[in-house]
Amino acid sequence: MILEAKSLSTAQASTPTQLPAGLSPSSPGPVIPSQVNGHSSGPDAHGGKALREDLQEFLGQEAPLHLLDDLTKVNPVTLETEFAKSTFASVLRCLQARYMADTFYTNAGCTLVALNPFKPVPQLYSPDLMKEYHAAPQPQKLKPHIFTVGEQTYRNVKSLIEPVNQSIVVSGESGAGKTWTSRCLMKFYAVVAASPTSWESHKIAERIEQRILNSNPVMEAFGNACTLRNNNSSRFGKFIQLQMNRAHQMTGAAVQTYLLEKTRVACQASSERNFHIFYQAYTSLGFPRTPSSATCPPPTDLQRSQCRREAPWHLPEGAAFSWLPNPERTLEEDCFEVTREAMLHLGIDTPTQNNIFKVLAGLLHLGNVRFADCEDEAQPCQLMDDAKGLFAYQQGFLRSFGLCRTSASLLWLPEDPLLETLRIRTIRAGRQQQVFRKPCSLAECDTRRDCLAKLIYARLFDWLVSVINSSIYAAPDSWTTFIGLLDVYGFESFPDNSLEQLCINYANEKLQQHFVAHYLRAQQEEYALEGLEWSFVNYQDNQTCLDLIEGSPISICSLLKRVTECRLNRPSSAAQLQTRIESALAGSPCLGHDKLSREPSFIVVHYAGPVRYHTAGLVEKNKDPVPPELTRLLQQSQDPLLKVLFPTDPEEKSQEEPSGKSRTPVLTVVSRFKASLEQLLQVLHSTTPHYIRCIKPNSKGQAQTFLREEVLSQLEACGLVETIHISAAGFPIRVSHRNFVERYALLRRLRPRTAPGPQSPPLNEGRSVCHFPFTFLPPLFLLSMVCSALSLAHVPWALA
Ligand code: ATP
Ligand code: MG
Repeated sequence: MILEAKSLSTAQASTPTQLPAGLSPSSPGPVIPSQVNGHSSGPDAHGGKALREDLQEFLGQEAPLHLLDDLTKVNPVTLETEFAKSTFASVLRCLQARYMADTFYTNAGCTLVALNPFKPVPQLYSPDLMKEYHAAPQPQKLKPHIFTVGEQTYRNVKSLIEPVNQSIVVSGESGAGKTWTSRCLMKFYAVVAASPTSWESHKIAERIEQRILNSNPVMEAFGNACTLRNNNSSRFGKFIQLQMNRAHQMTGAAVQTYLLEKTRVACQASSERNFHIFYQAYTSLGFPRTPSSATCPPPTDLQRSQCRREAPWHLPEGAAFSWLPNPERTLEEDCFEVTREAMLHLGIDTPTQNNIFKVLAGLLHLGNVRFADCEDEAQPCQLMDDAKGLFAYQQGFLRSFGLCRTSASLLWLPEDPLLETLRIRTIRAGRQQQVFRKPCSLAECDTRRDCLAKLIYARLFDWLVSVINSSIYAAPDSWTTFIGLLDVYGFESFPDNSLEQLCINYANEKLQQHFVAHYLRAQQEEYALEGLEWSFVNYQDNQTCLDLIEGSPISICSLLKRVTECRLNRPSSAAQLQTRIESALAGSPCLGHDKLSREPSFIVVHYAGPVRYHTAGLVEKNKDPVPPELTRLLQQSQDPLLKVLFPTDPEEKSQEEPSGKSRTPVLTVVSRFKASLEQLLQVLHSTTPHYIRCIKPNSKGQAQTFLREEVLSQLEACGLVETIHISAAGFPIRVSHRNFVERYALLRRLRPRTAPGPQSPPLNEGRSVCHFPFTFLPPLFLLSMVCSALSLAHVPWALA
C-alpha cells in the first residue's frame, strides 16, 4: 500500500493537533510561523490581524507595541507567498523578536534553534518545568524548548511502535551554548528517567543519575578552559550515551571523549588560560582571587589553612607560574569545592584527589624550568640559574634548579634522571642497537619538558574518563536503549590556526555532513524514489569540503599523513607541505591561497567560512612524538597515581626512537581522530538524530544584544533556511514499513478481506518507510492508541 503522501496544502487550515513538533498557538515564531516551525497553516488563518493576535498571545500583554508593529509588517498578507520567499531576513527578524522578548528557543523544521541568553534564566530550567514537559500529553504544544526535544527522544525510546536509540546533536560556534544545553538535557533525563531507589539503597549508593550529573563538573574542570571566545570553552569533544532499561529508567551511561587539546597545558594563547583545574587548585590555597558567587564563595581562612596542611602541593603564595597565565581573571568555573565534591561522588577519594593535585602542582613547577644554551655543543643545556650571567630571572619565580627538584619530588621521580631525560636524547642505532646519547638543543629541551607535561595530563584526563565510566557503568544486559548527547567543540577560526583547529573544524564538517546527508539530501532523494510530488530544495552540500579534507585518494589528511610518515619534520617541511597541498588539490573549489600571507599556509573554505591554516608545526603536531625515554622515566615514578598512569609495559621497550632512515608507520593524530570520528558517525547513523543549533547572538557575551550580522553568518553556515523549506513542504512522520505493518496489520483483520488468506502480500511491499503528512497525525495517534490497547491484550494475535 502506498500511503497517499502529499504535503499539507495551504487550503487545509490546520488545527493545533495537526501542527508539527513544537508548533502550537502559543509556541510558534510569531512572524513566520510556517517557516520557522516548518508548516504553513493557511493564508486565512494568518492575516495581519490574526498574526497580531498570535503575537500578542505569544509575547504577552506587555509586549511593546512597536515590536508588534514591526513584526506584523513582516508577514501582512499570506503565508503562501511568505513561505515561498522565506529568507534569512525573515528568519533573522523572527529570531531577533523572540530573543528580545526573552524567548530563546524556536522550532525550525527538524531543528531547534537555541539562542544563548547570556544571562541567568533559572525559571527556564526548573525541575517543575521539566516535569511539565514530561507530563504534557503533547509537549510539542508547549513553547519550543530543549525539554521538548528531551521529551520527544525519551518518548521515542519508550515507543511501542518503533523504539529506537536516539541521539541529540548539539552544534554551534564556540560559546554558543552547546555544553550548557547538554548539561540541561542531562538534568532533564535525570529527573524524568530517574531509577527508583529505596531509601536504604539511596543512602548506601548515590543514585546513578546523580553520578552521571557529577561527571560534568569534573570533566569541565579538567577539560575546559577560558578562551577568547568562551570563558568555559570545552577543549575536548564528548559523546555521552544515557542508557535506559526496559522500564525506561536511566541505569547507566558511557562517556566517549575526543581529542583533548593537551597542548594547552604547556602553551596558551595570549589572554587565554590553562585548564580550569590548575586555577582551582591554585586559588584554593589562599590566593584571594576566588570569585564571590553564590555557588562558589571564596574559601575561608580556616579552609585555606586546612588545605595547606592536608595538601602538600607546594604552590607557594605569590609564586608566578608561566603555565598559569591570567590567574587574576577568576571565573565562576574556578570552584574547587564543587569539583572535589563531584570527584568524591564519583568514587575518587580525598587521598587520590590530593595525589592528583600534587601531580598538577608538579607540572606547574616543571613549566617554570628554563634552560640556557651551553657554549660547548657536546655538553647538555644548563638550567637557567646555573648559567653564568643568566641570573636575570623573572621575579617571583623559583630558581630553575630548585624548581626541577620540587617538580621531581612532586612527581616522585628521581631528580637526576629527570634532568638527564629533559636534556639528553638517547638513540639506538645499528644492528647491535647501540645506545648513543646526544645533548638536546635548547629548543629540544623545551619541547621535551612540554611533552612530559602533555603526556602526564593527557593520561590523567583519560584515566579520569575511565574512572567516570566505571562509576556510571551499567552491564550490557541491564539496558536496552540509549539516548546519545553529542557536545563537540564548536567551529573555530583564529588569526593563527593549526592542527587543533583543523581537527575541530573537520569534526564540525562531519557533523554538518551527517545533517546534510540524513536530512537535506536523504529525505529529498527518498521522496523522489517513492515518486512523491516534490520540488527539489537546493542546499549547501559540504561534501566537496570533506573530500578536500579526508577524501581519497588524495586529501589534506592523506598528504599530511604521508609527509608525517616521511619524517619530514625539518623547518622546510612547512613550505613543502603547502606546495604539496596546493599542487595536489588545486582542483578543489574549497581550497584557497592567501597571497598576502608571509608564512606558509593554506585556506579551507569550510561550510561555516574560510579558515587559514599555518603549515608550520603541522607535521610535528600530527606526529605528536613522545620520546621513549620520557615514558620510561615516568615508569620509574614511585607516585601511586603515576604508577597507574604509566604502568611498566614490556612491549613499550621495543618502541625505541627509530634511528636513521627506517620508516615505521606512524599512527598520526589526524588518522586516530579520523578513526574515532568514523566510529562516532556509525553510532549516530544507528540512531534517530535530533538537532539543536546553538546560536550566539553576539560575540561579546552580552545579554539582550542581537547582532544580526553575526547571527546571519551562523544561520547561513548551518543551512537553516533550507531546513525550514524542506521541513515545511516535507513529510514529518516516518515509520519503517516493517514496524508499520507489525503495528497496524491487525486492522486488516478487523475488516472483511476480499481475498482472504494469511499469505496476502504485506502492505506497501518493497518500501521501507511510510511517509505521512501532518494531516495523518490525529488519525495515526488514534490508531496507535487503539492498537496499543488491543495489542497489549492480544499481542500474539496482533503480531501473527
Ligand atoms: P565551546 O565550543 O567553546 O565549548 P559552548 O557552545 O559549549 O562553547 P557553553 O560553554 O555551553 O558554549 O556556553 C557559553 C556560556 O554561555 C556559558 O558559560 C553560559 O555563561 C552562557 N550560556 C549558554 N547557554 C545559556 C543558557 N541557556 N542560559 C544562560 N546562560 C547560558
Ligand atoms: Mg562547550
